[in-house]
Order: sequence, then C-alpha cells, then structure tokens
Amino acid sequence: MPGYELFGAQERKEVNDVLESGILMRYGFDGARNGMWKAKELEQEICSTFGTSHAQLVSSGTAALTTAMVALGIGAGDEVIMPTFTFVASFEAVLSVGAIPVPVDIDETLTLDPKAVEQAITPRTKAVMPVHMCGSMAQLDELKAICDKHKLLLLEDACQAIGATYKGKYLGTIGDAGTFSLDFVKIITCGEGGAVLTNKKEVYEKCDQYSDHGHDHMGKDRGADLHPYVGYNFRISELHAAVGLAQVRRLGEFLTLQKHNHAIIYDTLKNVEGLTFRVIPDPAGDAGSFLSFFLPTEEMARDAVAGFAAAGLGGNFYWYDNNWHYIRKWQHLQSGSWMNRLYDEQKKQVLHYTNQAFPVSDAIMSRCISSLTSLVWTEAQAQERADKMAAVLNKVIKGAMAGA
Ligand SMILES: *Cc1c(COP(=O)(O)O)cnc(C)c1O
Repeated sequence: MPGYELFGAQERKEVNDVLESGILMRYGFDGARNGMWKAKELEQEICSTFGTSHAQLVSSGTAALTTAMVALGIGAGDEVIMPTFTFVASFEAVLSVGAIPVPVDIDETLTLDPKAVEQAITPRTKAVMPVHMCGSMAQLDELKAICDKHKLLLLEDACQAIGATYKGKYLGTIGDAGTFSLDFVKIITCGEGGAVLTNKKEVYEKCDQYSDHGHDHMGKDRGADLHPYVGYNFRISELHAAVGLAQVRRLGEFLTLQKHNHAIIYDTLKNVEGLTFRVIPDPAGDAGSFLSFFLPTEEMARDAVAGFAAAGLGGNFYWYDNNWHYIRKWQHLQSGSWMNRLYDEQKKQVLHYTNQAFPVSDAIMSRCISSLTSLVWTEAQAQERADKMAAVLNKVIKGAMAGA
C-alpha cells in the first residue's frame, strides 16, 4: 500500500519548488510565490484524476472526516452509522462534531453489512459512513439505496482506498462526500494530509471555509475576507501538498505494481485448501493494497499469525488483537475515557452504543488476516513470500484437520 516506499526525485522536485519560493502557506503572498500554488494544483489534480467536481485539502484524514461532517450538517445528537472494523479516526471525527457514533456489524466484505445498517436506523440517524478498509470497497449500491430510502447522507471513508473503484467510479466520489488520508502509510502520501471530495458545490464551499477559520476566500486580501461561518484550522502546508502532488501523479504506477504483487500472492494462496477470501463487491476495482483471508477457526488464525512471525513474514495483520482497528480493543471509548467532557446526552448514547456485543463481527474478525502488499518486491521476492505463506497456512489447516 504505501507510496512512501517509492519516495524519490519527483517528490523532491516539488518540495524544492516550495523551498525556493519560501512561501510555505497555501493562501496569500501572491506576489512572492513565483506562481507556485501546490495545494491548489493538487486539488485540481485530485478532481481530474478521480472525476470529482471539488476537492478540499486539509491537514489529515481525520480532519477531512470532521470537515466533511460539518459541511454536510452533521452535528449535536445526530447518529452516524459506522462499521465495527475501521480506524479509531472514524469515531473520533463523529465525536468531534458532537454526534454519536453507532457501530454496526460487518460482513465478509470487511465493511458495513447493509442489513445491519438498516436495523440500526433510528429517527436520529443522519448519515451512514462506510469505511473502505484495506484497499477494497463496501457494497455501495445497497448502502446508497438504504440512504435514499431513509433520506440519510452517505459519507465514504476512502482513506485507505485511494485509487480503488466501484463499478467504474473512484471510491470517495460516490457518496454525498468522501475522504482521503494522505498520511505516511497510505496508498499515496503527503507526509500528513487529507482531502474531502464532493460533487456538491455548497458542501465544498463549506469545507473550504471551515478548514481555514471561516475565511470566505472571495478576495485577494485575507484580512478583508468575510466569515459567514465559524471555522477551524485544518489547513495543509505547501510543503506537504508538494509531496502529494508528485505522489498523485504516480498513482497509476503505484497501483500497477501493487495489483501485480497482490495477484502473485493471491494466485498462490487460492490453492490452499480451507482458506477463504474477503468478499470484494467489484473485484476489478480492488486497489490490491492488502490480501485479506479467513482461516476456518480463530485458533487456526492465531496459529497462522504465529507461523508467519516464526517464518519471518512481516506485514500480516491480525486486526482482532489490534488496539486501533477493531471495536473489541476500544476500551477508552467504551469506558468513557474522554479528556474533554461530553454533553450528557452524547455521553449516554455513546456508552450505550459502543458497549453492545458484536458476535457476528467477532466471528469474522477473529478468523481474518490481512497481508500488506509492498510496492518494492521483485517478482521473485513476491513469489517466495507467497510460497512461504502457503506453507504456513497448509501446515496449520492440515494439522488442525488431522488433530480434529
Ligand atoms: C488513516 C485513516 C484515517 C485517518 O487518517 P489520518 O490522515 O491518519 O488522520 C481515517 N480512516 C481510515 C480508514 C484510515 O485508515
């Protein structure tokens, strides 16, 4: 997945442009910047690459989620349906706007189960937030139909799925808004950064204002800008945008390598008897950043994780035990360990929803392993890794069958 693996001359050139002008801020200083507008250029590049009308760069993927929610009008008391398997940023962003995260079960797509979403809808539900985890996608047709039927907003968290598509459209461009993360380990990186994508002009305008203290950006003089709304500072710097500009232009190169290496691992592991794979709603659109698969039981999954480690195979993630990506380990959220005090109703509802049991999600995540695809493997290295993984998996599954 990570674009940082191929950081090179193109990225350095874009950063050097900014260093030479000395203007590190994305707004203002028109005369001094030698015509250099890296953040604006990157926003235009995002629009043309992904086919969206508008893009707003911000300082992180988490800030992108927060900004998108504010711009969509999600706020105090609103419920936002999100999956149990995601990154903590999902609930952080929901909490930050005064809303209530409502985690619901996933299915073998590793993101929202549409049936679970429909069951979780209440009169307070305002939005559904699928998270396109690990380079692949949610069942967007089904989720969109639910949102249309119940008049809910669809906010796509595509932070981990930049360049993946669903039925020919890029993830992040299908809902009312979508978000990218450009942090250091994502498919493309700025170092730190994020973006909101939307086809709705009024949503974009609010993102543009909110992420820069409410500035309306109508004139040339920042001091004379009006502030139609109260905003915040989630600005990206020109230095970060410069890195992203080089990386987004290389996305095609990264995806080709990633899909190629992913196919080598998959073509070997698909022959392992007893192993099953993540359901991909549109296989052609998978970015290939991870290969996610299921062992028949939790015990076998744990044995496989140990076997991979013993064989020196890094980059295999067992999310069920991970502190950051699955609800089972979010005790800080479930126990109400907030640094700032929430308002009473929010606190009550958050504790209520996050302390539910999720046996369906547990049964899926406890058997799941995701294997990260590197961009820098040679074909021989990818094949060697695939063979070693297959050997571990065959041994674990055959051993368990023999013992049963
Ligand atoms: C990385 C990530 C985020 C947050 O992005 P940051 O840029 O690290 O703030 C949000 N959601 C998902 C699914 C992510 O993987």
